[in-house]
Amino acid sequence: MKPVQTEHSEAKSTDRPERSEAESPARPERSEAESRGRPEPLGYARDRLREAESRQSPFETDVPASVDARRQPVTSSLHLSALIYFALTGGATILAALGLRWGLPGSAVLIGTGGLAIAITAALERFLPYRTAWQRSHDDVRTDLTHLFVTNGLAIGGRWFNAAAVTALNVSSAGAISLSLWPTGWPLLAQLALALGIQELCGYWIHRAQHEIPLLWKFHSVHHSAPRLYWLNQMRNHPIDAMISGWALVPVVILGAPDQVLIIFGALTAVHLMLQHANIDIRLGPFNWVLSSSEVHRWHHSRRIEESNSNYGGVLLIWDVLFRTRFAPIDRQPPEKTGLSGSDAFPQDYFGQLAAPFSPSLWKPYR
Ligand SMILES: [Zn+2]
Ligand SMILES: [Zn+2]
Repeated sequence: MKPVQTEHSEAKSTDRPERSEAESPARPERSEAESRGRPEPLGYARDRLREAESRQSPFETDVPASVDARRQPVTSSLHLSALIYFALTGGATILAALGLRWGLPGSAVLIGTGGLAIAITAALERFLPYRTAWQRSHDDVRTDLTHLFVTNGLAIGGRWFNAAAVTALNVSSAGAISLSLWPTGWPLLAQLALALGIQELCGYWIHRAQHEIPLLWKFHSVHHSAPRLYWLNQMRNHPIDAMISGWALVPVVILGAPDQVLIIFGALTAVHLMLQHANIDIRLGPFNWVLSSSEVHRWHHSRRIEESNSNYGGVLLIWDVLFRTRFAPIDRQPPEKTGLSGSDAFPQDYFGQLAAPFSPSLWKPYR
């Protein structure tokens, strides 16, 4: 099988040559860490360690490429199922705007739109699954529910909530640190687009740093430990990682975006992130160049580092396109086995995941 040529793989080909499956060894050679009897470091750390141990060798992986021929690769033409995406994200935006106009408090608007989206998404996962194997529990539901209620607390508003926590402010007091530079006279949709563009640019570099800086990866690896993809994965985050991700919205808050914009923005991004992880067969075709859809995000959860270090966008993919980190091969489907390449050692219980970044035995070989 020829290696897939994409902008992403071409960009990396000079410093990290890729090998085809036929040329790859069934199992990579034992690393120095393994042969010394030390525990195997996880995912990114392990791959970086191997890369450092053997600069001359091509990138190695022990994870076979997906061979589920029934599933579609990232689509290039629009499909009727795209209506589901636009109806849910557009519906959440409109409902949030109406709720605020009716005088509902922001928290009620976010919980209401989020709850409705959860009910619809969970139902669609039953009737229009992307992978039937992902419909059954992988002993992950309890952990993910605990992340939902404990880690994220009231994070129905997703990044909005986190940003508010980081700045130790709530939306209503955001004006206290506002620079009053926000163009409040613009139409609401234009203000939302501006908030999205700024937040996504900051979010792109934060997310990329969470993958490329080893200390940050220790926390972000919790999100990537998910053994399958379904709507609750959006909530699987280490609290410190979620807080770091939330910084992406801080510039929007500081520029003085009004409550109305922040709350509607929160509803829109929360529903998008849920759909991004949902096990629903939604095909966005050409919109996969603009939106960080479930189709491209499945590659972000690959166990192969050269595949998962890509598609960093939260809602938009335009910054990945611009900075050449979009990865969406059109001739093969994303892997069914998601997670970390060393995930056997990674704790799958909630408190184990909270402690994981601080567990020397998990990361010792990398230090
Ligand atoms: Zn990530
Ligand atoms: Zn994800």
